[in-house]
Order: sequence, then structure tokens, then C-alpha cells
Amino acid sequence: MAAITLKNIVKKYGDGFPAVNDVSIDIADGEFVILVGPSGCGKSTLLRMIVGLEDITSGEMMIGDRKVNDLAPRDRNLAMVFQNYALYPHLSVYENIAFPLRLAGESDDEVDRKVREASKTLELDEHLDRKPGNLSGGQRQRVAMGRAIVREADAFLFDEPLSNLDAKLRGQMRTEIARLQKRLGITTVYVTHDQTEAMTLGDRVAVLKRGLLQQLATPRELYENP
Ligand code: ADP
Ligand code: ADP
Repeated sequence: MAAITLKNIVKKYGDGFPAVNDVSIDIADGEFVILVGPSGCGKSTLLRMIVGLEDITSGEMMIGDRKVNDLAPRDRNLAMVFQNYALYPHLSVYENIAFPLRLAGESDDEVDRKVREASKTLELDEHLDRKPGNLSGGQRQRVAMGRAIVREADAFLFDEPLSNLDAKLRGQMRTEIARLQKRLGITTVYVTHDQTEAMTLGDRVAVLKRGLLQQLATPRELYENP
């Protein structure tokens, strides 16, 4: 796990108005920060720069004590958790979680130890033989997080993970993500355009407008001083 530091981050596409305009945010180790704002405010661009999928025009980005401006995505040790969970339907829960460890060539013993530990934390230990198709949405979300946990990623990044779900399910998944984030204590950055999500999920909310960081505060502070 690690802190993420954004210092005067600017992103210009071509020579238009900056999509991200001088944004500075210190995200503490273990903190859950929400990036919120209307469509086009620059939140996805900011997330993609953190992951390394988009070049930074100027500014400095740190993960822990490493400057990562020029690091490839695979060298940043971050885990994107996707909306569709990107699980392999033909593999069991066990093999879905084990997948990154198999790719890294870890021994069967090591794989087994890590998968069992993660599945215990995520309360998936009774479902290890099942296929993703037979799981609830919440369980699938946990398998996707399990895959990130066994990799020992420094942070979780979510890009609008709940936007296609109905309101009831969205509420359940919100609770689930907030609970797991706290239990795992993993630094988390979560992008949404949904105000309710922003106000109920994280430790702090970063409000973006036309590329500018307008507010950076706890949900309570935002309620009291909107
Ligand atoms: P959000 O995620 O808040 O909807 P984006 O980060 O996607 O906002 O976009 C911020 C601004 O940057 C918008 O004006 C958008 O049109 C522009 N933009 C995003 N991606 C590109 C791109 N690949 N090329 C040019 N402009 C882009
Ligand atoms: P649980 O609380 O047991 O983890 P969920 O809240 O995830 O269950 O799921 C509740 C219901 O919504 C289940 O019937 C599940 O199949 C369905 N569901 C879960 N994820 C999705 C999704 N992404 N799209 C549509 N329906 C879903």
C-alpha cells in the first residue's frame, strides 16, 4: 500500500483548454478518495494519468516515494477494478483469483496460500469451486478485488464501477465496497459523476469542474459548506 501524491498535474489534449488544470491532491496511505464532477470535468483523464494510460503534460506524480511520471502501467503496481469485473467465466473463483500469480510463475504452494488468505478476508472461502456465472454481483465484485489483493497492489482504482446497475443494487454494492476498503485498508481512488456515491463512500471528496479542483474535503465538510 502507498500514498499517492499529485502535484500541479496538468493535462492538455492538443492546444485546447486543459482537461486537467493544475490539480494537487495528497492521498494518504489507506485513504479512500472520490473524484466527482459532471461529464467532461477531467476525472477519467486524471485517473488514467494515475494508472499510466495517459501522459502527464506537466506536474509530478508520486506513488509512495517513487516518482512515476514516466513509469509504464505495469510498473506502477496499481489495480484497476473494472465495472464488468473482467472475470474468466470458464475458470473457478479459485483460478480467477490465482490468475495473476500463475502469470507471475509463483509455485503452487505460494499460490494456494495467497488465494486462501485473500478468499478468507473476502468471505469467498465457501465459493472457491464455483464459476463467476453462478455468483451474485457482490460476490463477483469481491473476486475481482481478490485478484487485486493477491497481487499486493499498492492501490485500487475504480472508474464508475456502478453506473450501469439499478438503484437498489448500486446501494448494496456501495456498502460492500466501502466495507471492504476499510477492512483491507488499501489506498483507493474512485471516479463517479454521482453525488450520492461521492458523499457516502469515501474519506474525502475531490470535486472537479472544467479541469480545476474546486473542493477537497470530507463528506461532512461538504454537507456543512456546500
Ligand atoms: P470526465 O471523465 O469527467 O467525463 P474526461 O477526463 O473524459 O472527463 O474529459 C475531460 C476533457 O478532456 C473533456 O473536455 C474531453 O472532451 C477531453 N478529452 C478526454 N479525452 C480526450 C482525448 N483522448 N482527446 C481529446 N480530448 C479529450
Ligand atoms: P449479494 O448482496 O448477495 O452480493 P448482489 O446485491 O450483488 O447480491 O446482487 C443482487 C441481485 O442482483 C442478484 O440477483 C444478482 O444476480 C443481480 N446482479 C448482480 N450484479 C448484477 C449486474 N451487474 N447486473 C445485473 N444484475 C446483477
